[in-house]
Amino acid sequence: GKNVKIIQKIEELEMYRAFLIKYAEIGLKGKNRYIFENALRDRVQAALDRIGRYHVVREQGRIFVECPEDSDYDETVEALQKVFGVSGICPVVVIDSMEWDDITAGVGAYVEEFYEEQNFTFKVEAKRASKQYPMTSPEICAEMGAYLLGRFPALRVDVHHPEVSIHVELRTKTYVYSKTIPGPCGMPVGTGGKAMLLLSGGIDSPVAGYMIAKRGVAVEATYFHAPPYTSERAKQKVVDLARIISDYTGPIRLHVVNFTDIQLSIYETCPHEELTIIMRRYMMRIAEHFAKKSDCLALVTGESIGQVASQTLQSLLATNAVCGLPVFRPLIGFDKQEIVTIAKKLKTFETSIEPYEDCCTIFVAKHPVTKPVLADIEKSEQLLAEKIDGLMETAIQTA
Ligand code: ATP
Ligand code: MG
Repeated sequence: GKNVKIIQKIEELEMYRAFLIKYAEIGLKGKNRYIFENALRDRVQAALDRIGRYHVVREQGRIFVECPEDSDYDETVEALQKVFGVSGICPVVVIDSMEWDDITAGVGAYVEEFYEEQNFTFKVEAKRASKQYPMTSPEICAEMGAYLLGRFPALRVDVHHPEVSIHVELRTKTYVYSKTIPGPCGMPVGTGGKAMLLLSGGIDSPVAGYMIAKRGVAVEATYFHAPPYTSERAKQKVVDLARIISDYTGPIRLHVVNFTDIQLSIYETCPHEELTIIMRRYMMRIAEHFAKKSDCLALVTGESIGQVASQTLQSLLATNAVCGLPVFRPLIGFDKQEIVTIAKKLKTFETSIEPYEDCCTIFVAKHPVTKPVLADIEKSEQLLAEKIDGLMETAIQTA
């Protein structure tokens, strides 16, 4: 509620700390549900393994995170906020007892520690894991409510619109929570198969990778490098970007393809206004080769309609024509500013705007075609026929 100030730090509290992970359950009926839950458990564990010795358990349709003694509250929450599939993060206090007097005392201490002033409206929501417990859920709610009213005279009960819902769950220990921090939502990475991201050093493609991962798709990436026209620093920038988004996507395998000879060959042979589009078609062909080898079911790019000449509908059509796999463009309807906003949130933006040349900037024509005709592009590509297969082969072998 708006008047309730919550103390976020629970370090001082003697009782031990955990988080309850909430997830959206829509569409997760039957068989799919446990696949989703196991994947989410694994993703949460993997995210937390990077910062400490956490223990993530799945039981009775719940995922709990048990924190090590030395864990940092903010760091833990920040890591959990990057795990797709998590819709809410509830800091939980665990009372290591099932005795009613311990439970009431513990919940009282919780209310005292977590809220600066005990003057809000509330209700108690109780759950019993075992029907063996001598009180029913309504009895637990009523007795706990009465206890809290007695201990904190300024509290008021409001069962319809409480400012605070105090959840008390009795399992083998007692779990208490009342606050939900929003998660990133989406689906656990890996539950939606895998896709090949064409990752450049720009602003857009890392954001596209993040967005596809949000829907549960694992990401592999291909970068086209053109030394000496593009520097080692430009390549390092792509590695850095992959590393940043891997906080969300999980580990990314990055294929670095030496694209220089193909680019030079196109440059020497084909009409310059078609350079970008032809180059893009060869990128797609090579990315698709690696995609199929790694069981990726789609290609992903950072394109958005009309952003540059190679991103008109005609250009996208000409690019798609070489692909057997579907090409997903999660940013297709986004304005640049909207993409930048996400890039800043992900913290890829600062890296993306580092000034090192990426492979397109050197071979860009002054007046690229904005409405390429597929038949013309195919005709121009035939001029490459003699050498291109060998060059593609080499690029693939040396990646
Ligand atoms: P970005 O910010 O992602 O670089 P951009 O606005 O610079 O995008 P383009 O350079 O036209 O746009 O590239 C469009 C898309 O093609 C990129 O989002 C990326 O998916 C792919 N792409 C472009 N260059 C490369 C490259 N050198 N290696 C891998 N993929 C690339
Ligand atoms: Mg680019």
